[in-house]
Amino acid sequence: MSTTNGDSPQDTRFWHPFADMHAVRGHEVVIDHAEGIWIYDSEGRRFLDGTASLWYANVGHGRTEIGDRVRDQMSKLEAYSTFGDWSNEPAAELATRLSAHAPMPDARVFFTTGGGESIDTAAKLARQYWSVLGQPGKVHMITRSAAYHGTNGFGTSLGGIEPNRVGFGPLVLDTSNVVYDSVAALEEEILRLGPDRVAAFFAEPVIGAGGVYPPPDGYLEGVAAVCAEYDVLFITDSVICGFGRLGSWFGVERWSLQPDMIVFAKGVTSGYLPLGGVVASARVAEPFWSEPGHMFRHGATYAGHPACCAAGLANLDILEREQLIPRGAELEDVLFEALSRLGAHELVTEIRGGTGLMAAVGLDLDAGPSVVADVFAATRERGVLTRPLSAGLAMSPPLTITPDEIEQMAAAIGGALDAVLSARGTAGAR
Ligand code: PLP
Repeated sequence: MSTTNGDSPQDTRFWHPFADMHAVRGHEVVIDHAEGIWIYDSEGRRFLDGTASLWYANVGHGRTEIGDRVRDQMSKLEAYSTFGDWSNEPAAELATRLSAHAPMPDARVFFTTGGGESIDTAAKLARQYWSVLGQPGKVHMITRSAAYHGTNGFGTSLGGIEPNRVGFGPLVLDTSNVVYDSVAALEEEILRLGPDRVAAFFAEPVIGAGGVYPPPDGYLEGVAAVCAEYDVLFITDSVICGFGRLGSWFGVERWSLQPDMIVFAKGVTSGYLPLGGVVASARVAEPFWSEPGHMFRHGATYAGHPACCAAGLANLDILEREQLIPRGAELEDVLFEALSRLGAHELVTEIRGGTGLMAAVGLDLDAGPSVVADVFAATRERGVLTRPLSAGLAMSPPLTITPDEIEQMAAAIGGALDAVLSARGTAGAR
């Protein structure tokens, strides 16, 4: 039986994010369960989760202690608003622990339900900070080419991946991108606009979804200094880079950075429940916390949700007890070296990585427009999940992965590259 739309009774009603539903309908891969670094689909196939889902399953899957903590919290208090003077124990405790781990002294933590919402929070807070200080004209925000800052209003406008910005009509005004690897480009842009118009500069320590681009030597220290010189707030988007991915709590410590704000999400709960937030330095908090009458009129219904914060606390316990935070740095060379052995392959343009447990295999689009999809699919057929990029595949496995399993991942990609290349040769010979 089919309908006038051509769909069948089995057709999905689930509209997937970032998906061409015309292609996806009827071809969904249903994940059934997961354990550690392994994912199992509804047909019993097993895959190595080479990307920690969407860069977030830092402690791996199937940690029942997080679920237990959430269940206990839910049976005590499932949720209550934190607007105004309402608080709850998990939110207060998580804010205290995150503040203690932050590189900025005396930091405050504003909770949200994810990364994009946290970017919007940081953007609005930056503008309001300057407004409260009597400089309401400081509204412009600068980001980097290839940056990904989520899909909310500000995040869409700030992003540097062009296809994610088109077709949505006018975006938030007073934003611009500079080339991702040049300190001079940031300084020129601030001077072009006039420092008295620029509120903030946003940077991912290592660019993630835009292609896995580690910062050139001296870049992050350089842009932090430029921001300080021109009185522009320096905001790191540590949504991917935090919670061990780069070997530290917030992914900025290895460069001794003390940003004015740090945006976080993903690894704070390893994805067990949705949670994100902004760590605000004492400087940014000061006018709101020390003077009467400056209410930050912003916040979502589920900000400081006790069950989500309980998941965060249990996740932090695991990260600390199993010493997973340094692991992103301990394994960075293992991953980079394993993938570097694929660097000479005919379909590979370059291997990027070596800064944290994240890397990318650049693929040669001249080999055909479907090369990324083909290598992704062939790797999946070999039981390893990677993340397709516009011109390559990204990897960011759970921090619990072993060096042998990293080798396994690289071997599957190597096998996939060979298979795709030989299929092309065969097709060309016909
Ligand atoms: N910022 C960065 C660096 C991200 O990688 C992401 C998501 O991948 C976001 C922000 C948006 O987070 P969310 O998808 O939770 O809104």
